[in-house]
Amino acid sequence: MLRNLQGVLAAAPHAYVAIDEEGLVVAWNPAAHAMFGYSFEQACGRPMAELIIPPSLRDAHLAGLARCVADGGCRIVGRRMQVNAMHRDGHEFPVELTVTVTEDADARLFHALVQDVTIGQRVSRFAAVEAAVSRGLAEAESSDVAAARVAEALGVRMGWPVAELWLADEERQVVSCTARHVRGDLRLNAFGLKELEPGIGLPGRVYAQGAPDWIPDLAADVTSFRSRAAARIGLHVAVGVPVSSGGHTLGALCVYGDRIEDPEDTLIALLSGIAAQVGQYLERRRAEELTVELAKTKDEFLALVTHELRNPLSVITAATALLDEDLESLTTEQQHEQLRTIGRNAQRLSVIASDLLDLARLEAGHVAIDPVETDLSAILGEALAAHREAAAGKNLTIVVNVPERLALHADPHRLRQVADNLLSNAVKYTPTGGTITVTAAADDNTDEIIWAVTDTGIGIPAAERPHLFRRFYRASTARERRIPGTGLGLVITRTIVERHHGSITLTGTTGPGSTFTVRLPRSKPDTTAAPGAPG
Ligand code: ADP
Repeated sequence: MLRNLQGVLAAAPHAYVAIDEEGLVVAWNPAAHAMFGYSFEQACGRPMAELIIPPSLRDAHLAGLARCVADGGCRIVGRRMQVNAMHRDGHEFPVELTVTVTEDADARLFHALVQDVTIGQRVSRFAAVEAAVSRGLAEAESSDVAAARVAEALGVRMGWPVAELWLADEERQVVSCTARHVRGDLRLNAFGLKELEPGIGLPGRVYAQGAPDWIPDLAADVTSFRSRAAARIGLHVAVGVPVSSGGHTLGALCVYGDRIEDPEDTLIALLSGIAAQVGQYLERRRAEELTVELAKTKDEFLALVTHELRNPLSVITAATALLDEDLESLTTEQQHEQLRTIGRNAQRLSVIASDLLDLARLEAGHVAIDPVETDLSAILGEALAAHREAAAGKNLTIVVNVPERLALHADPHRLRQVADNLLSNAVKYTPTGGTITVTAAADDNTDEIIWAVTDTGIGIPAAERPHLFRRFYRASTARERRIPGTGLGLVITRTIVERHHGSITLTGTTGPGSTFTVRLPRSKPDTTAAPGAPG
């Protein structure tokens, strides 16, 4: 009978542990080995309290055992209890256990059947976090408050010492820490940065890659200054997931901990779910902000109508009036000159009208991007040829550093539009005698094409750069010099690039001039396997 019982306990899914009156282990089944990390040989004869009871609970356990032994008043016998147990490697985990006592002539033994309830607790904890985030987002009166609630829900309910929400600025040149929840006793020092460049640090990397990242040992992440700073203040592991909306990555949700007990994929799934809620929230907020922005844009639109539309119209009106009144007294050449003026200005108006329409359609998603296998080098060659005359007219030098062929999956007509816009701006905003440099190359590591247009022109003041991709926005350098323009080209350009899942940035320059850098994925966005990758 006893032999049978031992067989049952050996195969049981629950850990079975028995101790004598002194608290020394006398029985220990294979499930206990798996759960606590000690084999039967390692556990047998040792005080159970030192093996599997967390230090903070040990005194209470010993006092309880002493009471049981002294007067048989075992309060815990027959009750189902939830407590924290400790693994051999020191980590604590929740267990549910029941205790029974057996007595024979010479010994009293205490038997415990123990079940690890980590997963059950995780499910309810995750549900609670998700509910707290939903509530926080629904009730928040501003984006900042919403971000703070998300970080707090992750920090407090999940017990992560640091939880952060990072969002990119409008120009996509930096990611800023919008909200950070920090455990009371932590001093962040060099770790507490507010801004990072895309690609730098965990938030910058997650944002740039648009994919989750997991750093199992921050101290070993030698490439990142921030990871080492985190390790110095006692943080060991970190997980980050992208926050996205409508196919664009907006930022990153990152948590840092002493130790993360949940499995990597479960945790990433939880964080991704929360990040999706944040993305949807930001999308809603963005729609509201757009309404406000629209009001602002209206003023800038009025400026466009006043200068860019009214000027050509008055020229056309004046020329038509002149032709009407003085047709006979004008020479044929003068008549042609007036007609050319009318044609030029009508053409200018038509460009503005088609830019406005194009932008409206692109933004509304009504224009399809038709990606095919195409060659950026050929597109750039054609665009350069089209702008050479204008550049020569200003005595500009054009330097081209582009390989013979740059294959990618994209809409060639739309890319030509991007090339035309960047080149015409470079020509327009570079004074006589300057240089325009066009470079493009494939980056095999990221499977992207990086293409840049640099000029030595009037530049854009650093303080104004964040507004550059806003509709109708024109930098002071352009306005002061009265260089005509509508502030539509770059917005159209960015929309096209983003519809190709790429990015466009104005790279910071200290001297005069500007560099616009476009990054475009080479392959179809849904193609995950690189050609020729080992299968
Ligand atoms: P537009 O040139 O018609 O005004 P864009 O949208 O193409 O419209 O450009 C927006 C603004 O960005 C311009 O008005 C100008 O102030 C600035 N800008 C764009 N490209 C350059 C450049 N290469 N050098 C200096 N400023 C530029």
